[in-house]
Amino acid sequence: MMIDTHCHLNDRKGFPDPAIAIRRAVEAGVEKIVVVGIDRDWSEKAVALAEAHAEVYAVVGWHPTSAAKYNREELAIIRDLAAHPKIVAIGEIGFDFYWDYSTLEQQTVCLYDQLDLAEELDLPVVFHCREAYPALLDVLEKRPIRPYLLHCFAGNLDDAKRAIDLDCTFGVDGPVTYKKADDLRECMRFIGIDRLVLETDAPWLSPVPYRGKPNHPAYLGHIRDGLAACLNLSQEEVAKKTTDNARRFYRLP
Ligand SMILES: [Zn+2]
Repeated sequence: MMIDTHCHLNDRKGFPDPAIAIRRAVEAGVEKIVVVGIDRDWSEKAVALAEAHAEVYAVVGWHPTSAAKYNREELAIIRDLAAHPKIVAIGEIGFDFYWDYSTLEQQTVCLYDQLDLAEELDLPVVFHCREAYPALLDVLEKRPIRPYLLHCFAGNLDDAKRAIDLDCTFGVDGPVTYKKADDLRECMRFIGIDRLVLETDAPWLSPVPYRGKPNHPAYLGHIRDGLAACLNLSQEEVAKKTTDNARRFYRLP
């Protein structure tokens, strides 16, 4: 059995009927699905899905590309949502220097407020980081070490080294199956199975052979197989280790 540690069943366009997606995923060997928020609406939807489905857990927070709409009232709403017993982390938060939807100042306020909230509530943190690893690591290196997950890790070896020193966990997604992703696979071998978790980020980032089509939590096995080939481990070993890592990180039953 596997855990999809990062999925957006709360995307209404991608998953008009999440119950069907959950059933398919369970049939494909996915026992738990962590649904992640990017703003208030998506966080509330994540909590509603966790309430409605035994397999689903939720992560609530404001994504850096949503930071232009973030304010302290929104932080209070995230704090209230986080009291729910099926909330397992704050996220996805971080820096995104690729898209231009919010200023660095807006992203910084949004990130620091939620890092403080995670500390106050003693919750793990799920990070989104795009073209911003050195900046994010600069922030984290000045704070006390906490359970951090770098979702969909796409940094280089230097970033990986710094993140390992912070005891981070790393999310592995569809790109591990892409033909040209040798640098990523080298990073995964450097990081090692003890810090890796599987995630689909569905409906985005489909693994081969679904690349270019909508992604689905039921495709998690393709990511497991890609990682197994990359690390030269058996599929069973990868499933077991990544599930143990996910359980430990999110403190799942
Ligand atoms: Zn995401």
